[in-house]
Amino acid sequence: MAWLVAPASMATLKHPITIAGGGLAGLSLGIALCRQGLDVTLHEASTYPRHRVCGEFISGVSEDTLAQLGITHTLTDAVSLSRACWSDAAGPLGSMKVTGRGISRWRLDENLRQTFIDLGGRLVTQSRIQPGPGIIWATGRPKRPGPWLGLKFHVSNLALTHDLEMHMGSTGYLGLARIESDSVNVCGLFQTHMGIKAKGPALLIAHLRAGGLHKLADRLDAANINPASFCGVAGFRLGSQPGPPFSIGDSACMIPPFTGNGMSMAFESAECALQPAIDYAHGHQTWDQAAAASKKAHHQRFRRRLTIAGLLHSLLTTRFGMQLTTSLARRRAVPYDLLLQLVR
Ligand SMILES: Cc1cc2nc3c(=O)[nH]c(=O)nc-3n(C[C@H](O)[C@H](O)[C@H](O)COP(=O)(O)OP(=O)(O)OC[C@H]3O[C@@H](n4cnc5c(N)ncnc54)[C@H](O)[C@@H]3O)c2cc1C
Repeated sequence: MAWLVAPASMATLKHPITIAGGGLAGLSLGIALCRQGLDVTLHEASTYPRHRVCGEFISGVSEDTLAQLGITHTLTDAVSLSRACWSDAAGPLGSMKVTGRGISRWRLDENLRQTFIDLGGRLVTQSRIQPGPGIIWATGRPKRPGPWLGLKFHVSNLALTHDLEMHMGSTGYLGLARIESDSVNVCGLFQTHMGIKAKGPALLIAHLRAGGLHKLADRLDAANINPASFCGVAGFRLGSQPGPPFSIGDSACMIPPFTGNGMSMAFESAECALQPAIDYAHGHQTWDQAAAASKKAHHQRFRRRLTIAGLLHSLLTTRFGMQLTTSLARRRAVPYDLLLQLVR
């Protein structure tokens, strides 16, 4: 494995590292920094294990990135996913090959947590901290007024036509992804203005019906839903985020979920921040210089995919755009492979 710099003794370190947020970005950066011999404290507002709103389909992350961060082994429980399809209320629109993995956040975040602890990282759970100099900000989607509602739960007896099914409704979209233990993750992004009053898993199913996806709603009604896995999130915006200068993961930028690339970006973002954080810890860069170097690396790595994914998301979530895309799909005129490459 090729490390960026040789592990240092604590005595040569000028600054300990503090990270706020123990999701994918914060934990994977924490792990990589611990492997460099750095002194890392991570504050997490919640506890582990826990369910997170996420499609749980990881795609686009390279083996090099996983190895650079030292987290390859945390994905060994993942299921390999290779066949995907998308449909609207009228039926199938197309199928495609994908290269991805399915794993619950319950399992993945716990695997990362355990690795961080095993490497000597200090983890302070139920600790919600405030931004400040010397704190790498990995706290996920910032709270901002936004038009989207994300909902998810796990089911255990749902037969899938493909490893990953994407369903487009008139008020949002939903993915079904195979994950470990023969379970399926059900996760959707819906418009909030629908005013639907249901609670728990019924809320997600009601949103499917409101968007015209009745057959899918019937399938989920008949499935064995794990109610404890239900979670939801509202009040966020996609795209670049106005976070503190040294932000990573969703705190820095959030790609539309349909790409299945957000988790990969969280890991890649940790990779972008790794050398600047090491340089800061050794006193080779000031905090401001390290933050600027990390931001520049993010910009170079993510600008293109964020722009293209944002345009496609707008297309897929307006009535005219949906009509155009589905009619192209029915004529087999959607270049899936190219589009997938452009949002990675
Ligand atoms: C509906 C939906 C579907 C998605 N589907 C997919 C998908 O299929 N594939 C994919 O790759 N991506 C998907 N994503 C995106 C993916 O979930 C995120 O990109 C990823 O979770 C980002 O990881 P993160 O570490 O930046 O943030 P998070 O995983 O959100 O972690 C942030 C952590 O910070 C903690 N925290 C917050 N504030 C503080 C504080 N002040 N102090 C300390 N701790 C704090 C939180 O408790 C949390 O644990 C989806 C997102 C949504 C909304």
